[in-house]
Amino acid sequence: MNTLEIHNDIEDYKEASIKTLIDFVKQPSISRDVEAVEKCSRYLKSLMMDLSIDTKIYETEGNPVVYGEVLSHNKDAKTILFYGHYDVQPPDPLEEWDSPPFDPVIKNGRLYGRGAADNKGQLLAHILAVNTILKKEGSLPLNVKFIFEGEEEIGSKSLTKFVENNKELLQTDVVITSDGPKHDSGAPMVVFGVRGVMNFELELETANSDNHSGNKGGVIPNPAWILNDLLHTMKDKDDYVTIKGFYDDVIKPTKREVDLINDLPFNPENLAKVYGVEKIELDKKTFYERLMFLPTLTINGLVSGHTNEGTKNIIPKKATAKMEVRMVKDQNPEDLFKKIKKHVEKINPDVKVIQQEEDMYPSRTSSELPISEDVIEAVKKAYEMDPIILPSMGGSLPDYIWTKILGKPSIMVPYANADEANHAPNENMDLDSFMKGIHCSVEIINGLR
Ligand SMILES: [Zn+2]
Repeated sequence: MNTLEIHNDIEDYKEASIKTLIDFVKQPSISRDVEAVEKCSRYLKSLMMDLSIDTKIYETEGNPVVYGEVLSHNKDAKTILFYGHYDVQPPDPLEEWDSPPFDPVIKNGRLYGRGAADNKGQLLAHILAVNTILKKEGSLPLNVKFIFEGEEEIGSKSLTKFVENNKELLQTDVVITSDGPKHDSGAPMVVFGVRGVMNFELELETANSDNHSGNKGGVIPNPAWILNDLLHTMKDKDDYVTIKGFYDDVIKPTKREVDLINDLPFNPENLAKVYGVEKIELDKKTFYERLMFLPTLTINGLVSGHTNEGTKNIIPKKATAKMEVRMVKDQNPEDLFKKIKKHVEKINPDVKVIQQEEDMYPSRTSSELPISEDVIEAVKKAYEMDPIILPSMGGSLPDYIWTKILGKPSIMVPYANADEANHAPNENMDLDSFMKGIHCSVEIINGLR
């Protein structure tokens, strides 16, 4: 592949590429707006067909999946599956936008519009990379497949089923996702995993109504105190979760992963500012190990009795704790829920443990696979600098669909600027980052051996 000429072509087509992005962002494909989403799926299909990508729309129980492919003439060629989403977040609050969210404008080298970065600009970079190679070379050195869903912003429910039912169609050597921002230093990132999340509630009701805290004070139980006692049995003073078996499936980071942590930037003063806390007391190794390789048990909220202004002398009838577990590789939500339930039943069987919907499994791909090395190398080539390599991020994405259901390595290479304002007013895609993304996708396609 003549990559030098292809990189020149990408710059030559810059204006047309930006125009395509503008048209794409004009589609108001808010996930819950079924009509707009369907229209956008048809728009995306015809855009891909126009760019020589064989494309089909697959109906699901929810929003349609847009699938495209360009197969190589080489029978032994490897396959890349690019994943992205064409649905967008709702744009409200509208009054905080400086320009209309679905009438994108360019200002200071950025395109402002809902979906410009999350995720239309990023998925389009892959499409345009393939088209530029096809125009120059007439064919691809490997098979490229695209899967673009319309429900990412509301939990990717239909995607799981679609992948379960279409494993043959989606056969690949690697899944590449470009979503989210690059590092805030501007450096590119390659991300190999996510934590999972499981939500549940603890609920204790001790009376059928709130009671007078004087007339009945001292003679009936208070669910807020009792629930607090239970919470205290779940964790010790060192933040160690004391539920039996909680850490059973947690595995230590590999030597390579420890090395990667050592290479990460770490500025606790700056982080404290960003997080709005006084101090971060952890050293670098502990900080990243906790964020990437250890699960958490978090109280998201406590609700009981009178919480508005002023006083109200009552004994609440009920107390609720909204809780979550962030899981790491090999942990699973069903197993953890059982262990938590068992713990609660032993300490206080009156407390109800209620599992919430929408679990997300954890997922991690080894950064030591040859294909992982190829992707890291390609990103380095495209950006002419070493990427920041994250063995895992602290947050959760449905990456397990690729690693657990499809059973393939999955690597995330975000293309958007760090201040893309995704999910917020004035979302924007920095156009240099957009163009760099196209170059990077070319290097990834060229770099897999
Ligand atoms: Zn998003």
